[in-house]
Amino acid sequence: MNVTLTAAERQQAAATYDAIIIGAGISGMFMLYRLREMGLSVRVFEMGSNVGGTWYWNRYPGARFDSESWTYGYSFSKELLQEWDWKEHFSPQPDTLEYLNYVADKFDLRRDMQFHATVNAAHWDEAANQWTVTLDDGSQTRARFLFTAIGILSAHTLPAIPGRDSFQGPAYHPARWPHTPVDFTGKRVGIIGTGATAIQAIPEIAKQAKHLTVFQRRPNWAAPLHNAKISPEEMASIKARYEEIYAHCAQTPTWFIHQSDPRKTLDVPPAEREAFWEKLYAEPGFGIWIGNFSDMLIDEKANAAISAFIADKIRQRVKDPALAEKLIPKDHGFGTRRVPLESGYFETYNRDNVTLIDTLEDEPIVCITPKGVKTAKQEHEFDIMVYATGFDGVTGAFDRIDFRGTNGALLRDVWRDGPRTYLGMVADHFPNMLMVLGPHTARGNIPQAIEHSVGFQTGLIRHMLDHGYTHVETRPEKVDAWTEIVIKAAEPLLSSKVPSWQTGVNRNVEGRQVLRVLGYNGNGAHFRRTTDEEAKSGYQSFAFR
Ligand code: NAP
Repeated sequence: MNVTLTAAERQQAAATYDAIIIGAGISGMFMLYRLREMGLSVRVFEMGSNVGGTWYWNRYPGARFDSESWTYGYSFSKELLQEWDWKEHFSPQPDTLEYLNYVADKFDLRRDMQFHATVNAAHWDEAANQWTVTLDDGSQTRARFLFTAIGILSAHTLPAIPGRDSFQGPAYHPARWPHTPVDFTGKRVGIIGTGATAIQAIPEIAKQAKHLTVFQRRPNWAAPLHNAKISPEEMASIKARYEEIYAHCAQTPTWFIHQSDPRKTLDVPPAEREAFWEKLYAEPGFGIWIGNFSDMLIDEKANAAISAFIADKIRQRVKDPALAEKLIPKDHGFGTRRVPLESGYFETYNRDNVTLIDTLEDEPIVCITPKGVKTAKQEHEFDIMVYATGFDGVTGAFDRIDFRGTNGALLRDVWRDGPRTYLGMVADHFPNMLMVLGPHTARGNIPQAIEHSVGFQTGLIRHMLDHGYTHVETRPEKVDAWTEIVIKAAEPLLSSKVPSWQTGVNRNVEGRQVLRVLGYNGNGAHFRRTTDEEAKSGYQSFAFR
């Protein structure tokens, strides 16, 4: 920062672009591509040293897609689809990062990106009709449009446990994993957390470590991933069917290949029901969660039935019955939190070098010490600690930036009682700011959601360029109506009553203990129709000038 300049002088000296994008993950990369295609000058600010977002940061052992790779990349470029060979049905993180680097190279994206650039603030300047973005080094950049591409799971959180920073050995959060692999050979390792991340990491760490101790507060339901390599013949067949595959995803409720069975659980005779579940449990991917009977996530009895089925699977896979019971969630039903897909997770507890500590009932954690973890019963000593303690989901990344809109309105305050948006893309009081994957948008298959959102938003910008508009805001009544739609759509879901990152709960973050609605839980195909109609109507829900 040039300290000899006053704040006003610094603003004046700031470079100016048509658009600034915060984040160079899947969203930011594609938004850049599309805006550049329209002839806009764009600057992307990225905290990391390269592209990739989630797949740049989360390098922990076992990290991989649990969505089918060939539905989880970009679909906008036929050439790219034909060029890229996925090696596995559920791509491991290193391959996915390689893919995203390939995309950045192919479309020469890095030339408009600035890395090691953490955005601290973004302030709307009404008089200039521009945004001013300030980085952590104090430098400022201005632009007419601001796009947030900051992800829904990017604000990682460490456990709020006394003494956390006193541990003398290395301690890692999976979302800040070192770029060189961590060697667990011969080490005593402690891991806190049993969410999707830990469920992927635990089997891999256990294979290497001398001993792995898992501190579990609440168990999560999980089902097998059944990953496999993709043969060249299979990849050729996938490439030939890409158009059909993505057309199918576009009309399913969550934009995945899976879609629920219209039958109601208890209408199906028990033997037929069991056979259906056995089939889903043996198949790869999310079918057991989102390809199940249509009432599974809304009807308590239906949910109890599938939960009992999955609980029995855990009992069959874990040799020690008492341990199996510890791994079976009792506080929420199957599918009411995001279901992690696992590869040998439950069998890992049959190993001699793995111990599960139930911190809710048996051994509450008292504190972290220089040597390890002190529980109500004993001190566990470790060489390495892993804090797989998750994220301040969806709004967390917004809270970490000082977003100020019209008349200095602070986004954190505007959303204090829960986010308020139109389509999850624009917020009241924040003109010319568009959010990719903002709260209250449709998500499901994330890259598909991103492509859809970028398509809608760049359509809106195109509309402005065509009409000579330079200022866009949503209409407040549209924000009220959309917020209501989103809240109503969540009401019938059993998941709406269960604390998790998806309902905005993070026990490590002050003020994040109350359940909120953070996503649009209606039908993705319906969301697509709503946005398409909005575009066709000439974006009538927006006010331009
Ligand atoms: P998470 O599901 O929120 O799990 C965090 C875990 O840490 C929970 O078990 C939680 O226990 C525990 N925890 C947090 N603070 C603690 C504390 N102070 N003391 C003890 N335990 C504590 O986070 P995540 O595993 O990182 O997963 C988040 C999301 O990321 C997933 O749901 C998924 O959407 C995404 N993800 C995707 C993939 C993939 O695509 N393959 C892989 C990994 C993650 P409580 O439940 O008791 O709070």
